[in-house]
Amino acid sequence: GPAAQPGRRVLLKLSGEVFGGGAVGVDPEVVKRIAGQIAEVVQDGVQVAVVVGGGNFFRGAELQHHGMDRARGDYMGMLGTVMNCLALQDFLEHRGVDTRVQTAITMGQVAEPYIPRRAARHLEKGRVVIFGAGAGMPYFTTDTVAAQRALEINCDRLLMGKNGVDGVYEADPRTHPNARKYRSITYADVLRQRLNVADPAAFSLCMDNQLPIIVFGLGVDNGIARAIRGEQIGTVVAS
Ligand code: UDP
Repeated sequence: GPAAQPGRRVLLKLSGEVFGGGAVGVDPEVVKRIAGQIAEVVQDGVQVAVVVGGGNFFRGAELQHHGMDRARGDYMGMLGTVMNCLALQDFLEHRGVDTRVQTAITMGQVAEPYIPRRAARHLEKGRVVIFGAGAGMPYFTTDTVAAQRALEINCDRLLMGKNGVDGVYEADPRTHPNARKYRSITYADVLRQRLNVADPAAFSLCMDNQLPIIVFGLGVDNGIARAIRGEQIGTVVAS
């Protein structure tokens, strides 16, 4: 099919924490608002793929601190992402947006398997594709998967929607309230200064492949729609 126009195919990474609205589980009101913003831009003709995190359910590293096997905890984390995917799919379909969920762990009753060329075809048809279960591999994060999926299905930009922080700061704004936010920064500086607003593996993958990242806050009014439309909100990470 035709290649995406610049800015016309984006990968949106949503941290799992936002789905829970601060609690464990899924807050339907939050997911409804997210779906509304995505529906708006899809109706404008933007192709949107989504990678959903799972921190509102489980993180393998945290379960490990409580004595669980790390890999098993990571699989629990990956399964948590799928529940978020299904919630988002449901609210997108309420808005009349055709949606497919593709998972990295096969579960035929609830989702398609991850098939990159099929994902691209769905996007060309105006469907939202939601990627679940991370990479299907323990010790990875959904940030890194977001970078990988964005590259494999030829997205123009990776938009990272964060909970509790609205961009890349010179220091963690939760512990350094006077820290300033960057409007733009290079991948190398993010890595060198260890500004771990997302997994460094994700930044490194984007740096190697010249994929711009926009880090923005999900608490910002209409943030998802504005970030997708290319408004300057949050921080642009590029070379
Ligand atoms: N996870 C994993 N491999 C992956 C993606 C995720 O093992 O490819 C597990 C890992 O335990 C992680 C959890 O799933 O902590 C939830 O994902 P993540 O922490 O990336 O979610 P977010 O921080 O975006 O909510």
